[in-house]
Amino acid sequence: MLKNWMVVPTCLPLVRRRCHTCASERFRASGKFRVNANHKLIDVWLLALCTACGETAKLTVLERMTVRSVRPELLDRLHDNDPGLTAELLQDPVVQRRNRVALDWDDAWRLDTGGSDHLDREVIDISVRFAARIPVRPVRLIAEGCDLPRAEVDRLIAAGKLVSAVRLSGKLSSDFTFTLKR
Ligand SMILES: [Zn+2]
Repeated sequence: MLKNWMVVPTCLPLVRRRCHTCASERFRASGKFRVNANHKLIDVWLLALCTACGETAKLTVLERMTVRSVRPELLDRLHDNDPGLTAELLQDPVVQRRNRVALDWDDAWRLDTGGSDHLDREVIDISVRFAARIPVRPVRLIAEGCDLPRAEVDRLIAAGKLVSAVRLSGKLSSDFTFTLKR
């Protein structure tokens, strides 16, 4: 029997970045962009607010680009402060690298299992899909989805009753499957 689970975002992740004002290390995307067009060049920042003191940080999205090279559709979304665009840009590896930030997905996702009626089967294959690249520990997901203590999940792995082609003890952010035998 094959079941599908899905890891889905429930809100925007926080941005890990040190605040120069209060030394907090988390910023929340404000949902607003700042666009500065100067002659033929354009700069775009995504504005984020320190979760502790409210200080504004600017995350560079576009730097000294020629206006003509920017898709008009993107400009419209920037001017409209499109919330979907904030989510896309936060998760864009190029934006993350350019600003030397990472994301904090704690409390920003949930696991959809479609119910627990399958858990009494002798053997189940579960396919876990990620709606966004959210780094999670498979061991934690399996404990939550199968309603088992973490120690029991570790024991099942050690006993060869919980198997996968991926390493279940680390962190993952892409689709995987596992088999649970009772
Ligand atoms: Zn601060």
